[in-house]
Amino acid sequence: MAKKQIVILGGGFGGVYTARCLEKLLPPGDADISLVNRENYWVYQPMLPEVISGSIALTDVVAPIRRLCPRTNLIMREAEEIDLKNRVITVSPGFRPRQKKIPYDYLVIALGELTNFYGMPGMLENAMPFRTLADAIALRNHVIHVLEEADVEEDADLRRRLLTFVVGGGGFSGVEVTAELNDFVRAVKKNYLRLRNEQVRCVLVHSRGRILPEMADPLALFAQKILRKRGVEIILNDRLVAATSEKAILKSGLEIPSKTIISTVPATAPPILAKLDCAKDKTKLLVSTALELQGYEGQVWALGDCASIKTVSGKSVPPTAQHATREASTCAINIARAIRGGTPSGFAFEGLGTLASLGHGSAVAQIFGLKISGILAWFLWRTIYLAKIPGIKSKVRIGMDWLIHLLFPPDLAQTKVDAGSAIKKQHFEPGDIVFHQGDLGDSVYVIERGECQVLREADGATTQLATLQAGDYFGEMALLSDKSRNATIQARTALEVLLIPKADFDILRKSVPAFGEVFHSLARQRDEAGRNPSSAPD
Ligand SMILES: Cc1cc2nc3c(=O)[nH]c(=O)nc-3n(C[C@H](O)[C@H](O)[C@H](O)COP(=O)(O)OP(=O)(O)OC[C@H]3O[C@@H](n4cnc5c(N)ncnc54)[C@H](O)[C@@H]3O)c2cc1C
Repeated sequence: MAKKQIVILGGGFGGVYTARCLEKLLPPGDADISLVNRENYWVYQPMLPEVISGSIALTDVVAPIRRLCPRTNLIMREAEEIDLKNRVITVSPGFRPRQKKIPYDYLVIALGELTNFYGMPGMLENAMPFRTLADAIALRNHVIHVLEEADVEEDADLRRRLLTFVVGGGGFSGVEVTAELNDFVRAVKKNYLRLRNEQVRCVLVHSRGRILPEMADPLALFAQKILRKRGVEIILNDRLVAATSEKAILKSGLEIPSKTIISTVPATAPPILAKLDCAKDKTKLLVSTALELQGYEGQVWALGDCASIKTVSGKSVPPTAQHATREASTCAINIARAIRGGTPSGFAFEGLGTLASLGHGSAVAQIFGLKISGILAWFLWRTIYLAKIPGIKSKVRIGMDWLIHLLFPPDLAQTKVDAGSAIKKQHFEPGDIVFHQGDLGDSVYVIERGECQVLREADGATTQLATLQAGDYFGEMALLSDKSRNATIQARTALEVLLIPKADFDILRKSVPAFGEVFHSLARQRDEAGRNPSSAPD
């Protein structure tokens, strides 16, 4: 039997646990397992809110995928296209601007969800999502930054804005983020000489009549009571609809002056799935109880937050980690059966219960029908989640983090990781290649000093088309036409260029028409002249 190629898209709970189960079920001779993920680590999302307060250190909520799945080939790239008909995945370019094609026999889609700010003016620019490690780090740094600013600021109105934090979405993640944020800000306020007597506002906005809709009434009401007691304002039956750099705007028309707006809702499947021509439930992929994509049974499976799943008893499966890990076992078993023969197994897990941390020694839990709240629930929350983290090293590190957090005040150091502008200068020595013919167009170049030559390869011969020098631009045609470079650029002398990445180039040419026109007219002139130094180097 030829070795099968299994490709898993997504390295979260669904993807990583599928790979781990497959490694146990299939001997290396039966199949190669590849996993595509944009990061080389797996994130333990339930503990992500604790990164805000620093009660868990930044890198302790993640684990390297290569160690979790030692027999899986990790491809740390962005999946850009799924071709279900031809069974090929296209992944983004790396250092070399060329896409990579990955053929597969069996495909698992576990790409999770995103926070979707579509149709909510100003949210993309001014609100922060909370799903990834990068989101958690960005939020922690931002919160420390606004505290530092508030301490320096003379304007009382601006100081109030800086000390107001708005969270949209009263589900598990929204509640846990609010609880951590509120605890953190109130705990560290005393370290700021001028903020000790200032009011802090943490506002949680939820669209329904009570928070934590996944939990029973008494627990949700207990959570509301605890949060309010700790100073959180809870606004119910309303939702965030827009934001500016100065305020959050709610559906009711209420405006909350704030410099910190976090939103955990609404969620949507990643855009790569929107392009797929297959059965969907809203944006999610519709799968059978065996997790098979309709029309691609025995070939493509989808699971986790990006899939719409029903159990064998007909209940809709909620988007949680405990379900994603069980779906992963079902998926791996069904792939093994597809390879060896056998009837697919249906997903039957109905959930063990739900837990939500309220920070500061309090939580709510609903387990095996029992409703528990307060310190006992908090102890349960920590014990269960610690037990679930794979690997003894991670368990020890998180246990130590919690102990340190109990004994000492929260860490206040900001981790500045701002890379500055993506527009940068680059230096090339004579003979260096700036880009190759056939590469994807990922940047535009402006020559500041030196010369380069434009070379075209055809029929095994290389022709020099032109020489470019200081003040010339190149590389724009591939960006304007979304085609690959049709010539190679080689430095003739020492060469200094300004490199404008595609994303910045697109923003500039759309927002500043005069800027775009320079490049459009240059492209037209070069085309008309037919001499092609610029259309050539694109
Ligand atoms: C703050 C927070 C708290 C939570 N708390 C709990 C909790 O207490 N209990 C619980 O059960 N659940 C909790 N959840 C939900 C739980 O984390 C998710 O249900 C679970 O992570 C879903 O797993 P998944 O594999 O579907 O997606 P994810 O874990 O989100 O993984 C998706 C992966 O795909 C990658 N990816 C996406 N698009 C691409 C692409 N185009 N190319 C390459 N890679 C890509 C992402 O980088 C990510 O690594 C929480 C979620 C959040 C955000």
